[in-house]
Amino acid sequence: EDRIVSGNEASGDTLDAGLRPQVLSEFIGQEQARGNLQVFIEAARTRAEAMDHVLFYGPPGLGKTTLAQIVARELGVNFRATSGPVISKAGDLAALLTNLQDRDVLFIDEIHRLNPAVEEILYPAMEDFQLDLIIGEGPAARSVRIDLPRFTLVGATTRSGLITKPLRDRFGIPTRLEFYKVSELTEVVRRASRLLGLPITDEGAREVAARSRGTPRIAGRLLRRVRDFALVAADERVDAKIADAALTRLQVDNLGLDIMDRRYLSCIGETYTGGPVGVETLAAALSEPRDAIEDIIEPYLMQIGLVQRTPRGRMLSPDGWKHLGLTPPRSISN
Ligand code: ADP
Repeated sequence: EDRIVSGNEASGDTLDAGLRPQVLSEFIGQEQARGNLQVFIEAARTRAEAMDHVLFYGPPGLGKTTLAQIVARELGVNFRATSGPVISKAGDLAALLTNLQDRDVLFIDEIHRLNPAVEEILYPAMEDFQLDLIIGEGPAARSVRIDLPRFTLVGATTRSGLITKPLRDRFGIPTRLEFYKVSELTEVVRRASRLLGLPITDEGAREVAARSRGTPRIAGRLLRRVRDFALVAADERVDAKIADAALTRLQVDNLGLDIMDRRYLSCIGETYTGGPVGVETLAAALSEPRDAIEDIIEPYLMQIGLVQRTPRGRMLSPDGWKHLGLTPPRSISN
């Protein structure tokens, strides 16, 4: 997975660390989430209590990890991070939980990938701050109960529907993150340019933002590529023309779509005459995992209205046909 427009973290993104906003007031966009978190953080601090558990859900690269870190920092507590697939045994989770200090934030990325046996012991931990462990095996086995410090679990997942209902129900603060508006991403790009020491015009920042699929991680990545082009061309600052030329050469089109997106669109349009076509069929036709299609490709194409989800499958919208430069079959053109 090395698509330049993927919201997933890639190896070249390590520089991102320096671009991460550190406090809530530096965090751009997600107004509703930010406003709510502000209140819950302040209330928890005032009462000197652990904040309620938070679930962040939304496509990759929108700032779930960043917000989790900010929550810990603003609460003035430690931040411990792990991820669903990493915690393979109940004992791994027990070790993490018993090492927490009062009110700490434990961040579990990809929480939908927790193994069910581990998830079971998370329930009483979240609800009663207790751990029920089975020690030993066979007739000698006994169960012990351990009191845990009061902590805040921050979970992250790409779609809330991926996690089980009992787990979902134990988060007091479910928070959905949305794709960013172009104006907000323009702000993200300007801030990143400042931090990278890269002169950029407002129009240049807007051009990068408009092609970043509503996703700050992609904005940061595109900006670094544009910076390379500007450096080699010895341009003094990035304007819209330079940004456009660089992104066009990287095959990122005016909507921020790449070859993979266009393959997906033309598969529905040309192979399946506009759909409806099921996601499994598309996954097979494109040789892509279904998850990648549902998590990475589709959310943005649906957000901008090129594709519609219907009970019978995915359909290309009139705008989708237009973007491909094709005429829809007569039956759906009016
Ligand atoms: P997620 O956990 O949702 O995949 P991250 O929190 O890792 O996303 O964010 C991806 C990158 O995007 C980070 O490196 C961060 O610098 C940047 N980023 C995310 N949200 C914002 C924001 N609101 N303002 C500025 N940069 C952001």
